[in-house]
Amino acid sequence: MRIDIISIFPEMFPGPLGHSIMGRAQERGLLKLVIHNLRDYTTDKHRSVDDAPYGGGAGMVMKPEPIFRAVRSLRCKEGTRIILLTPQGQVLTQEKAWKLSREEQLVLICGHYEGVDERVRQHLVTDEISTGDYVLTGGEIPAMLLVDSIVRLLPGVLGQRDSLQEETFTDNLLEYPQYTRPSRWEGMEVPAILLSGHHEEIRRWRRRESLRRTLRRRPELLKNKILTKEDQILLREIMEN
Ligand code: SAM
Repeated sequence: MRIDIISIFPEMFPGPLGHSIMGRAQERGLLKLVIHNLRDYTTDKHRSVDDAPYGGGAGMVMKPEPIFRAVRSLRCKEGTRIILLTPQGQVLTQEKAWKLSREEQLVLICGHYEGVDERVRQHLVTDEISTGDYVLTGGEIPAMLLVDSIVRLLPGVLGQRDSLQEETFTDNLLEYPQYTRPSRWEGMEVPAILLSGHHEEIRRWRRRESLRRTLRRRPELLKNKILTKEDQILLREIMEN
């Protein structure tokens, strides 16, 4: 996958995206990350990327021309997703990350100040994505977050792809509790079932704990979930305890 990021702070990259799994994905050629300095697409001697808002008011607005020029210079294939990071966008979900992980190329636009000129939203971008209901100073951290959520889903990026099958938000559930050695520490014990070696019972315990955790912490996820016969029995057990 190729991801182009357009930013007025290109030096912020690769930052966290140069390390660990994201760094290795690039070394192994699974991800090509290309960072573009928006100021390279300005035409005035001050390399201006922003101006005062029409109608007055606080702050500055990012000008449309450099953003249009930067995106057009990429000569992307028809249908390429051009994504604006904005707190007004659709909130990023695991489902959205899976959808985007199937694309060959993505273009991300990082905003700053009061955001970007509305014509960028109307005539250039295909998607507007928010990383959550809060406002940050710029789109670079949201862009990094979006890239990480997508790239870890690409085939070959994670050593154990199986871990994606059971993790939080897969199948509208939170993941079950995890433990490792030692089995007993300062009087705190690992549930005996996990030490028993009974694979079927361990699977059932994990499913029940996953349902229990989701019910307690994120009950709204269960509303969108198709419950199997076993899930219904396990939920009844949870309610009765
Ligand atoms: N004035 C804008 C508003 O009220 O909607 C907020 C602009 S914000 C200070 C500057 C930039 O940070 C945005 O253009 C966007 O690129 C980025 N940003 C801030 N919060 C974000 C979020 N939750 N998700 C994605 N991008 C965000």
